[in-house]
Amino acid sequence: MIRINEVALNLDYDETSLKKAAAKKLNIAVSEIKYISLYKRSVDARKKDNVHFTAAVDVKVDNENKVLKKCKNAVFVEEYHYDLPKCRKLSKRPVIIGSGPCGMFAALILAQCGQNPIIVERGRDVDSRTKDVNEFWSGGVLDEKSNVQFGEGGAGTFSDGKLNTGTKDKRIRKVLEEFAENGSPKEILYLAKPHIGTDMLKMTVKNIREKIISLGGEYWFETKLTDIKFADGKINAVVLEKNNETFTLETDNVILAIGHSARDTFEMLKNKNIAMEKKAFAMGVRIEHLQEMINKSQYGSFWNNKYLSAADYKLAVHLNNGRGVFTFCMCPGGSVVAAASEHGRLVTNGMSEFARDKVNANSALLVGINPNDFGSSDILAGVALQRRLEEMAFHAGGENYHAPVQRVCDFLKKQKSVAVGSVIPSYQPGYTLTNLDICLPDFMADSLREGIVLMDKRLKGFADGDAVLTAVESRSSSPVRILRGENMQSVSVKGLYPCGEGAGYAGGIVSAAVDGIKAAEMILQFS
Ligand SMILES: Cc1cc2nc3c(=O)[nH]c(=O)nc-3n(C[C@H](O)[C@H](O)[C@H](O)COP(=O)(O)OP(=O)(O)OC[C@H]3O[C@@H](n4cnc5c(N)ncnc54)[C@H](O)[C@@H]3O)c2cc1C
Repeated sequence: MIRINEVALNLDYDETSLKKAAAKKLNIAVSEIKYISLYKRSVDARKKDNVHFTAAVDVKVDNENKVLKKCKNAVFVEEYHYDLPKCRKLSKRPVIIGSGPCGMFAALILAQCGQNPIIVERGRDVDSRTKDVNEFWSGGVLDEKSNVQFGEGGAGTFSDGKLNTGTKDKRIRKVLEEFAENGSPKEILYLAKPHIGTDMLKMTVKNIREKIISLGGEYWFETKLTDIKFADGKINAVVLEKNNETFTLETDNVILAIGHSARDTFEMLKNKNIAMEKKAFAMGVRIEHLQEMINKSQYGSFWNNKYLSAADYKLAVHLNNGRGVFTFCMCPGGSVVAAASEHGRLVTNGMSEFARDKVNANSALLVGINPNDFGSSDILAGVALQRRLEEMAFHAGGENYHAPVQRVCDFLKKQKSVAVGSVIPSYQPGYTLTNLDICLPDFMADSLREGIVLMDKRLKGFADGDAVLTAVESRSSSPVRILRGENMQSVSVKGLYPCGEGAGYAGGIVSAAVDGIKAAEMILQFS
């Protein structure tokens, strides 16, 4: 198959114009193309008067070698295929703790290889979880067992479902194909910045669960890992808790895909002397603008073109104080959401639905935090710092899960907001106008102020006075890393595979899923 790169396409291109553009690049007639499909498509908005798509296109023709000789921007490529690892049947069923993207994809591979994995998930199945989350968002009643962090699909279920990563691992295609096959939009297979949206994600994680079960896997919801048992440096059982009853499950292989919010599980691992280290992470606020303003800034006169989806942005600045300030997990046409998992502590994050058609754009606006900022040598000092800020945000919001909010114009002047302007905060169950300096450490608030002003030079309108800030975005990544060595196993205990975001080896849905696949491959290769 031939892959042609850098094919420019008008925004209103169709199958005929796509074929014409590909044929022109290859110096052949349209009729010679036997098969055509988009491999990648991105928006080129560098020139605001000529916004168009740029694509990589796969075609099949006769005599591919001969055709390739006549074309510069094309290469021969093999069709993608993920080969499942070959393996014997494990003597004990592998156990996966956590049903987020990492655990779900580890389970899928193990199930596809006939290993009948058991997935242990402290939260509830996605339908029950949706009810719990909606109850929290509408009435402020938080369920510590079932929320935006815990439950089927993990932290990624109530999200924007962005699927881009910075890596080129061949397993990414496997992840995208499984998502597309199980209910996500097919366009994720070729868009340069694919996203699923919460509505489609919920359906997709359910379909993947059904697939895993049909292959012999089992899901144990509302079941929590509370202890691990090992002898001679090798795992032999996990201790689980369901309905206040504790029981032991024997196994030789445990994938620990617990996410970054499993603070009680981190504590248990620390007490068992499982090697961990403090890890740099980032905290800050959510910033919301009108999506229309972002579209105008990014697409110029094409801002409301029907073929363009809501525009995104990604910004990073380096400050003179040595800190970095950056935007993260930007959600076009989405909402800021209450993402707490502990009573008395408030957390924000962002989500969108597939349509990305809400009035506001939101993004995390974060300041880099180093272990030196943690204020203690304890391995879990980063968690303690997160908790402190979450408690301050809870108090500043009125102790009812209403979030503390401030307009950017007031934040820059360090004065309390008394009214919102054109941007209405989307956070539910509600918000309290305040001065965010009362709930952010000085170094964070000052860095954010400097960052906002600098970012406005890169994205016109970023420092718009009506933009709103909602605190506190404290769970952007894990503040610890669970150390692993040979074959991805814990350096302390063989057969224990710390994976995904919570263990410090992933930073999003796709990288967590890929890490889960790798761990499954390791189990199959070396057990
Ligand atoms: C609101 C929101 C929006 C996001 N948007 C995006 C986005 O658009 N794109 C993106 O790439 N990333 C996004 N993320 C981040 C992404 O969700 C995470 O990077 C990803 O889910 C990490 O996957 P994971 O499997 O490692 O951990 P998690 O998804 O956190 O899953 C861990 C699971 O383990 C379970 N668990 C924890 N402890 C135990 C225990 N002791 N016993 C049993 N079960 C346990 C938890 O309940 C949880 O379900 C978002 C996150 C949030 C919260």
